[in-house]
Amino acid sequence: MQIEKQKLIYKGKAKSVYETNDADYLILHFRDDTSAFNGERVEQLGRKGQVNNRFNAFIMQKLDAAGIETHFEQQLSDDEVLVKRLQMIPVECVVRNFAAGSLVRRLGLEEGQALTPPTYELFFKDDALGDPMVNESLSISLGWATAEQLAQMQALSYQVNDILKKLFDEGGLMLVDFKLEFGVYHDRIVLGDEFSPDGCRIWDKDTKKKLDKDRFRQSLGDVIESYEEVAQRIGVPLN
Ligand code: ADP
Ligand code: UDP
Repeated sequence: MQIEKQKLIYKGKAKSVYETNDADYLILHFRDDTSAFNGERVEQLGRKGQVNNRFNAFIMQKLDAAGIETHFEQQLSDDEVLVKRLQMIPVECVVRNFAAGSLVRRLGLEEGQALTPPTYELFFKDDALGDPMVNESLSISLGWATAEQLAQMQALSYQVNDILKKLFDEGGLMLVDFKLEFGVYHDRIVLGDEFSPDGCRIWDKDTKKKLDKDRFRQSLGDVIESYEEVAQRIGVPLN
């Protein structure tokens, strides 16, 4: 069956989600909109949609090749991707190799402190509440996921970390932390959403220069140029 894009069903902060003529598939459109602080600050950054679409396609295919099931089906255009339609679980799964961001603020740690072994946190995906931290117990009690699904999400998040830490390391980069979202597809836990510099922290190994969305959050400039530098250093084809 030829997949056709149909109506817009959701416009998020960075992506628009379209139904298709097949109930099992969606089309995600990566826009140039860039937001921070749970949508409080929004700007358009030229080329971001394309760069993140290509970055995400590259990472998702690497993960699929390593045996992690993802929603990625096919890159359709510069800024669109065909994905499996998941029943999303409303928690953000964060793996951290080094302290940064909310962890530093919460515990007063020094940014860059190594976390050995890497740590794992869950946040409720709710902009109005500021994505509060939650845990497995609450996620089960509130019916967001089963204990088995949550255990799978944690194991998969750590596997993703092992695969990607190595990939970034080979490009002279540190994978500081990242966020994943999972959903259910025909009773299986599948990795959804995106993996791009918008949802992770990546530093140069030698200089510790930030090359991710913190450049936007902290108004450091050269946001997309930095995303492109990371892409080039890990071998993402940008043209
Ligand atoms: P947000 O909702 O945080 O503003 P986006 O702008 O990235 O984020 O919007 C994309 C939305 O699509 C997110 O809510 C995400 O959970 C959802 N999503 C991502 N992948 C899938 C998928 N495969 N199936 C269903 N929903 C998905
Ligand atoms: N993150 C994300 N979306 C969110 C919250 C966090 O992609 O809604 C990513 C963020 O880019 C970082 C990691 O998850 O790579 C950990 O974020 P943290 O808890 O430190 O929150 P922040 O400092 O971004 O508020």
